[in-house]
Amino acid sequence: MFYYILHLINQTIDTSRKLTNKSIMIIMLAELPETHQILRQTCRDYADRELAPIAAKLDKEHLYPTKQIKELGSMGVMAMEVPEELGGAGMDYLAYSLAVEEISRGCASTGVIVSVNNSLYIGPILKFGTEEQKKQWITPFTTGEKVGCFALSEPGNGSDAGAASTVARQEGDEWVLNGTKAWITNSWDASATVVFATTDKKLKHKGISAFLIPMPHPGLSLGKKEDKLGIKASSTANIILEDCRIPLGNMLGPRGAGFKIAMQTLDSGRIGIASQALGIAQASLDCAADYAHKRIAFGAPIGKLQAIQFKLADMALAIESARLLTWKASLLRDSKKPFSKEAAMGKLAASEAATFCSHQAIQILGGMGYVTDMPAERHYRDARITEIYEGTSEIQRLVIAGQLLKEYQP
Ligand SMILES: Cc1cc2nc3c(=O)[nH]c(=O)nc-3n(C[C@H](O)[C@H](O)[C@H](O)COP(=O)(O)OP(=O)(O)OC[C@H]3O[C@@H](n4cnc5c(N)ncnc54)[C@H](O)[C@@H]3O)c2cc1C
Repeated sequence: MFYYILHLINQTIDTSRKLTNKSIMIIMLAELPETHQILRQTCRDYADRELAPIAAKLDKEHLYPTKQIKELGSMGVMAMEVPEELGGAGMDYLAYSLAVEEISRGCASTGVIVSVNNSLYIGPILKFGTEEQKKQWITPFTTGEKVGCFALSEPGNGSDAGAASTVARQEGDEWVLNGTKAWITNSWDASATVVFATTDKKLKHKGISAFLIPMPHPGLSLGKKEDKLGIKASSTANIILEDCRIPLGNMLGPRGAGFKIAMQTLDSGRIGIASQALGIAQASLDCAADYAHKRIAFGAPIGKLQAIQFKLADMALAIESARLLTWKASLLRDSKKPFSKEAAMGKLAASEAATFCSHQAIQILGGMGYVTDMPAERHYRDARITEIYEGTSEIQRLVIAGQLLKEYQP
């Protein structure tokens, strides 16, 4: 039996699809609502059956999981929060977090493909798009047939996203974009991207706007596929814009609102990456605990050794505390409360838990942890990125401290 933090709204919880939220009370429940339990188990079964057995091959051969992404689309997982009338699952963010964790437990690359499509591509369109934009740019991306990407970082600026040098100028009834976006997840497999570019350079970050560009598109090309340490089945590349022309109607949100859109998108995205990290951490613990039962040293399973038991206990502690923080951030978001600090805390705790647990798993497996016969080395490589993208651990600490200092304002 486990406990989790739930918003209790007027003492009622609508477990049909979403948790209904009017006021927040933190309570301890014996179990997740039934809908969420079923979703979690469905995703777990799918990951065990369809992802974990092929994750090593996808990683080794840098293969995009085409079939699996379509299957996840048919399960509703590619558009968890999108209303059913637009083709999505109409679930809440807690459900999304549970799904990404379970999928990432089977394959962290698949987890980030799902996360980017949901939170970074669909998320800002759902929040800031017109009804027409939602139909055009979201619905075809709900099934897994198409995935989207999010192009904010540039070669010259990642953490300092407000320093964007990609430019969009208006020419007649078109926007013309020039510049290079760096490190874009899903780029080689994507059918559209949200791109951030400056429309008024002198306004600095307040001059950044967001745009929707189909892919492929004239004037848009891709750089080489990056050869990464981990998450090798997800593509990462530069998006190069050279006189890339799009209709004026492809602006997302108001002119100059791009930086705000990007920051709000990343607040939500961090819950997705926290969930991916939880999946990696949990997979590391699963692998290590199983091995501790089976590996005999000095005449007994190594799980009998206190040194190994302490490692397993510390791993479980790191995972469970990070999971509670991540769920809290999801629940705050679901109840339309501020969640920026909690999302940063969840992402920081979960990504550091993934790094820690994957490191410990290799130690528990000894030599077998160091070779590709076992998944521990892949978890170790996959974990590392969760401390970098969608805001490094240092940036998460800045976000948390910034909010804290506001709260403690004399
Ligand atoms: C595999 C991968 C996938 C990615 N996917 C995407 C994507 O889909 N879309 C996208 O837009 N971007 C993406 N990124 C980019 C990613 O978000 C950036 O790499 C990240 O934000 C860090 O930026 P940077 O690499 O420029 O590092 P820098 O910003 O140059 O940071 C270098 C170091 O300085 C530290 N630092 C910087 N500023 C501060 C500060 N103010 N205080 C304290 N420390 C600081 C950082 O924490 C880091 O340790 C991806 C990156 C990778 C590697």
